Amino acid sequence: MLERDHNRAFCAVRPPGHHATADTAMGFCLFNNVAVAAAYARDKYGLERIAIVDFDVHHGNGTQDIFEADPKVAYYSTHQSGLFPYSGNMRERGVGNICNILLPPGSDSFRFRNTWADDMLPQIDAFRPQLLLISAGFDAHRGDPQADLMVETEDFAWLTTELVAIANRHGGRRVVSMLEGGYDLHALGECSVAHVGALLAP
Ligand SMILES: [Zn+2]
Repeated sequence: MLERDHNRAFCAVRPPGHHATADTAMGFCLFNNVAVAAAYARDKYGLERIAIVDFDVHHGNGTQDIFEADPKVAYYSTHQSGLFPYSGNMRERGVGNICNILLPPGSDSFRFRNTWADDMLPQIDAFRPQLLLISAGFDAHRGDPQADLMVETEDFAWLTTELVAIANRHGGRRVVSMLEGGYDLHALGECSVAHVGALLAP
């Protein structure tokens, strides 16, 4: 990715990773895949602005825990309020590199898109990430049995397109997406296809 011509990658990994801390597996997660990628890009390639964007319906407590004192890695997460792992309060700001926004149960496309468009995407853009990593969980989908958000398949494609645009402005077009949650298999397949389709755009 950082040495060759590939600008986008989607890693269909199982188990997911964003709940795992540096030394503790939890929430179906053994190793924090996206955190390993961010740390590798930082340490091997010397990147100084790496953004991790997490739209899984759960808070990526492990990712936040690993980077909350590291200003080179910024973490942006929307997640449903009152849901496992019960972290990700908006007051958790790290060293100014953590941004959490809670979505109440029942939040729909309108709320989801507005939250990203008005609050989150401008902050990611201002950070000017050299590499954009995505914790791509699709359990905010309206059909998912593990949560109560009402996000539609097209919303994930929309958000992916917005993130690709930010990477194109600042990141040498580099986006690496890693699968996180998603427990309705039909929705998971549909959302993954929509997400990868948006990643493939120039
Ligand atoms: Zn999840």
